[in-house]
Amino acid sequence: MGGSAADGRDYRQAAAALRDNGAMSVREPRSSDAAAAPCPCGRPATLAACCGRWHEGPQHLQAPDAESLMRSRYAAYVLDRLDYLRETWHPDTRPADLGPNEPGLRWLGLEVREHRRLDEDHATVRFVARSKLGGRAFRLSETSRFVREGGRWFYVDGDVDGR
Ligand SMILES: [Zn+2]
Repeated sequence: MGGSAADGRDYRQAAAALRDNGAMSVREPRSSDAAAAPCPCGRPATLAACCGRWHEGPQHLQAPDAESLMRSRYAAYVLDRLDYLRETWHPDTRPADLGPNEPGLRWLGLEVREHRRLDEDHATVRFVARSKLGGRAFRLSETSRFVREGGRWFYVDGDVDGR
């Protein structure tokens, strides 16, 4: 406060006025803020309208095609959603132990190069994912295989492209 000799009552009134204006309320980070942010997968949509739909909520695990599943898995890597990565990994190839991102790892972006539907229930997606760790840039170029079982797409495995 400044040098003015406001008495206690004035101060209380001012504080009450601030509270009424909402200026004193603390804005807590909420998941809806993240949901309104651009989707990490690179599609021009918010997380909630893009990959977030498949991560949780009424459309949980219902990515409609291999590319959408692949994008939602990339977003899950960015957001450290290990539960989603496990749930969308085919049980035959799912690692027993799936750890979180290394501390300091930053995912920089995803480019889907090709989505190929092989038949009704099999597809491949070729993509490049970029990340950075400790000042070093990494580029993962992979062709992933996906299978649909019981109406749900799963990641099976992938071939890292030669350099
Ligand atoms: Zn997305």
